[in-house]
Amino acid sequence: MDHHFGCTICGDCCKGLRVQLTRREALDWLERGHPVDLLADAAPWFEEPAENDERGRYTRARSFATVSGEVPVRITLRLTSNHTGPCANRLPDMKCAIYETRPLVCRIFPAYIFPFGGFDPANRLCPPEAWAPHNPVLIRDGACVDPATVELIALARATAAEDAAAGPALCADLGIRAAGLANEGYVAHTPEPAALAEALRRSLECPGGGTETGGGDWTVASNRRSTLDALNAAEARFEAMRASLVDGTRQYLGLFADEG
Ligand code: SF4
Ligand code: SF4
Repeated sequence: MDHHFGCTICGDCCKGLRVQLTRREALDWLERGHPVDLLADAAPWFEEPAENDERGRYTRARSFATVSGEVPVRITLRLTSNHTGPCANRLPDMKCAIYETRPLVCRIFPAYIFPFGGFDPANRLCPPEAWAPHNPVLIRDGACVDPATVELIALARATAAEDAAAGPALCADLGIRAAGLANEGYVAHTPEPAALAEALRRSLECPGGGTETGGGDWTVASNRRSTLDALNAAEARFEAMRASLVDGTRQYLGLFADEG
């Protein structure tokens, strides 16, 4: 099935969102005076994914290895800019103030970087006229076929892998050592903007520098009693966390209601 697409510049995808950023984009974002945080989740990783385990291999490529107590984990780190209202760069006429240098994720939307789960225009925010048949084909049989967008998706995946490799040193620099359990929640870290900008500069200037792995014991946080019990039984390092600010820089963002 073909999905034709042409942006109507309605601006709906530029509000009430977390814009995911590469390290370079996050530094640019901070230098423009907009806040950036880091979301971390931890996936238990007892064995490497099989050749045909595409999801496992996708997660592996975007994460780095470390431990939580006795449990090997892989940490996925996401630099994001959170907007409950309009994005800081959205102009009153719905155009983007940084259109020429907007983040990769904005260039790729409404196609997906995540390669699983199919494509459904109903899950995107674009109005019906954006999908009118006179527009060029963006998606064919679930896959992006627009050459420029295909190239951007490849670039986004390669950059995510580079950023993941730099994750241990960046986290060590910022003292970040807590993550949510993958598929349950994230720990959002909000370092002081100048400190984050400095750490990103160091990270970008010294791509091979820093620790090779997670460099220490990570804490896995959860808001669910059952998860905390399971982490305890597995001898992971864990912490109960609710969706409120902890010590001013950390917040638990759970996909489930508080439990226990
Ligand atoms: S950076 Fe521009 S394109 Fe991206 S969400 Fe913000 S206003 Fe929209
Ligand atoms: S929601 Fe869709 S049509 Fe509207 S600005 Fe975003 S990409 Fe364009």
